[in-house]
Amino acid sequence: MSVEFSIEAKLGQDTFKVDKGPHIVPDPAVCRTCGPKWCIKTCPAHLYAANGDGSVTLNFEGCLECGTCLVACLPRSLDWHYPRGGFGVQLRYG
Ligand code: SF4
Ligand code: SF4
Repeated sequence: MSVEFSIEAKLGQDTFKVDKGPHIVPDPAVCRTCGPKWCIKTCPAHLYAANGDGSVTLNFEGCLECGTCLVACLPRSLDWHYPRGGFGVQLRYG
């Protein structure tokens, strides 16, 4: 018998050791010129949100370090790095 879990339930299995600063930083000036906002549509953890001025906010604490936003952001707005050693996501159960 297979058991299915929601995205939220799966993400709830992960733990995060949050660093003091973000490891992914969008450039607001670039984001204001970006209509499609691919980051919002593609981040599997739904960490991006649109601001009223056209920029975006990223809740980096829940980042899965998948790199999807880096690839999806065609205007190359993101200053993207992995968290420092010892910080970031600890994936569990795949
Ligand atoms: S896809 Fe890139 S340029 Fe567009 S809003 Fe997201 S981070 Fe900014
Ligand atoms: S690396 Fe993945 S989880 Fe982290 S913000 Fe980008 S798309 Fe979202």
